[in-house]
Amino acid sequence: MSSGRTRGIILHVSDHGEADKIITLYSPDLGRVTGIAKGAKRSKKRFVNKLEEFSLLQIIYRPARGDGLFILSEADLENAYLSIRTHYDRYVVAMYAGELALRFTREHDPDPEIFSLLAWTMQELTEERDPLAVAAFFHLRLLGAAGYEPQLARCGLCNAPVENGRDFALHVGRGTLVCARCLNEQREAVLPFSMQTLKFLQHAQHADLKNLTRLRLSRNNALEALRILHRYTQHLLQHDIHAWSQVRKLAGAQTPDSPSA
Ligand SMILES: [Zn+2]
Repeated sequence: MSSGRTRGIILHVSDHGEADKIITLYSPDLGRVTGIAKGAKRSKKRFVNKLEEFSLLQIIYRPARGDGLFILSEADLENAYLSIRTHYDRYVVAMYAGELALRFTREHDPDPEIFSLLAWTMQELTEERDPLAVAAFFHLRLLGAAGYEPQLARCGLCNAPVENGRDFALHVGRGTLVCARCLNEQREAVLPFSMQTLKFLQHAQHADLKNLTRLRLSRNNALEALRILHRYTQHLLQHDIHAWSQVRKLAGAQTPDSPSA
């Protein structure tokens, strides 16, 4: 990593020793990278109120020796997305998106689409948008960008297209739909879709981000989509998404895949 200037959305911040902070950010040209802001806890001038999770920064950095961390020399705030910090539901969804982005990306593996998706998500959360719908769209599109797009056009076993009058579920192990007819033969985990949610996700999977902004997904459909995407993701990662329990609580939902809390 050489010296340079870039933009990035902060995914994680932690204190380091007496004076420093460690930040992980997602940049369109560097991907996910982690650096150290020396003196960030003391220096009021250079970094104050800038190194907050989910903020979009313009930074100047230089390489560090040895451990792969970069050194954050300067940071300018491009967008603090302030209302994420003052609305609990927006904050929870930002945490969910940040955690998924950390899990589905590798260091120094830039994908401008993932950066755009993160920036879209933080911007949408500051608008009057249902955070659960934003979470569902982010999750779906991140899976696509990371190479795990669920195949939602037709039954993955008999090839029957999605149409009314037939029920469909997501086959978690395959990442494809299965139709009701094939469903009877499946003993593995499947998650049933309502036709409305399924049609929404099909549309959202390939829409431009600016058109995605206009899609209105109801709270129930958003929650249904999230439950399915979350289970699919658990299967892919073999790991829990910690922010999920808070996302689920936002909807006041008791879901079968989560013990009641
Ligand atoms: Zn089928």
